[in-house]
Amino acid sequence: ARLRSAVPLQLDYGGPTIMNKPSSLTYFERDMASVVHPQTNLLKHLQTGPTIVTHGEGVYVYDDAGDRFLDSGAALWCNSLGYGSERVARVAYEAMQKLTYFQLFRGYSHGPAIDLSERLLQIAPVPMSKVLLQCSGSEANDSAVKIVWYYWHGLGKPERRKIISRQGSYHGSTCVAISLTGNSSYHKSFGLPFDGFIHVDSLNYYRSAKPGETEEQFSQRLADALEATILREGPETVAAFWADPVQGNAGALPPPKGYFEKVQAVLKKYDILFVADEVICGFGRTGSMWGSQTYGLQPDIITCAKQLSAAMLPISAILMNEKVFDVVKNESNKQGAFVHGFTYAGHPVAASVALEVLKIYDEMDIAARVKSLEPVFLQQLDGLTDHPLVGAVSGVGLIGGVEIVKDKETRASFDAGVDIGGRIVENARKNGLILRVASNRIAYSPPLIISEDEIVDIGTRTRAALDDTLAEVR
Ligand code: PLP
Repeated sequence: ARLRSAVPLQLDYGGPTIMNKPSSLTYFERDMASVVHPQTNLLKHLQTGPTIVTHGEGVYVYDDAGDRFLDSGAALWCNSLGYGSERVARVAYEAMQKLTYFQLFRGYSHGPAIDLSERLLQIAPVPMSKVLLQCSGSEANDSAVKIVWYYWHGLGKPERRKIISRQGSYHGSTCVAISLTGNSSYHKSFGLPFDGFIHVDSLNYYRSAKPGETEEQFSQRLADALEATILREGPETVAAFWADPVQGNAGALPPPKGYFEKVQAVLKKYDILFVADEVICGFGRTGSMWGSQTYGLQPDIITCAKQLSAAMLPISAILMNEKVFDVVKNESNKQGAFVHGFTYAGHPVAASVALEVLKIYDEMDIAARVKSLEPVFLQQLDGLTDHPLVGAVSGVGLIGGVEIVKDKETRASFDAGVDIGGRIVENARKNGLILRVASNRIAYSPPLIISEDEIVDIGTRTRAALDDTLAEVR
């Protein structure tokens, strides 16, 4: 089954006509006539049309032809609790009735924002002092860059402006968050990244290690390269280092052994702030509550989103330590105010939803749950290594990555024209599986409520998709 069809849908709102369009038009056609899709080839979309997802249940989503698909990516790494929660819906309903909205600007506050901020500080992986609530991962990273700059201004060192991040990272789509992002395909045609955003080498051991180099040696080489970059740029001009504990956009790529220990030693040496982007790793994904715990990170600032509310409403947060907050507080006093804010940041309904989701995580002991599923999940990944299209696999918690190769011996990749990723994704769909391919790797991040049987099913369906793809390209 394909996740798309031209079956006329019953209109569920608006009566017999909508915007002068006759009701006989399907969602499929109306989408093409009206919707701009993110991360989509907009010209091709007008020929292929959309995939209409009608509803979801557990780890499954359904299309408008009634076909069911196992979602191996938790949508965009965010639907940790799967699809549908009456309990959280009730919380949202009550929160909306109690306080539809109020801002946090100019000292106003409300219970949901206070409760959520307090809870985030309680569960933070390292001591944190304060929380700034935002609406998305991009906003959180964008605002965290402003906080970093504000911090250095406050310390009388405004020349500390450069931000170093890594190739293969994704930190969001606002102009600044995409400048942090280490992927030139997101920059082309936008005239980005902004000056002062520097991207150091990729962490992909399989692709980038020298023959015979151990993971530890590879990590040391990356840390040395980071230090060389800092010295080249001038340490007095470097403000912060940005890292996602596991790189989602690089194809669910965990760091090589010893990487963060070595990198953090360099950052300490040059007094560079460390920002951990926990947007995909936060809240159990790696088998600890935070990726920072899994890999021993000691960040000054943490950004988080997605699983914070299990994607039931948009909300994100920036956690900052006392070293940062102390300076930010004094700078705001000097300037008269911390002149930064979004209308919907800390929205009481979204904050109430996030708080309830965190309660559910507590009740489920979410990190322990993921840790206990990790061996089953990794076994499924390992089971794919004998496939001719699979070069290597890696994973942690409920994150998995599979290197796609044309030739196992030489590790050569397919030519771009083959669109191997697109083929695998399409064949997975035909096998009832929603799969993501990024940076030539299959990237898994299933809902954290997934069962052992469903994990095995992901392995089985992936193998079928790989077999079908092999038959096409052989
Ligand atoms: N940071 C990471 C690591 C991400 O994976 C993403 C989104 O995928 C973002 C930031 C941006 O988050 P959002 O899409 O909520 O703006």
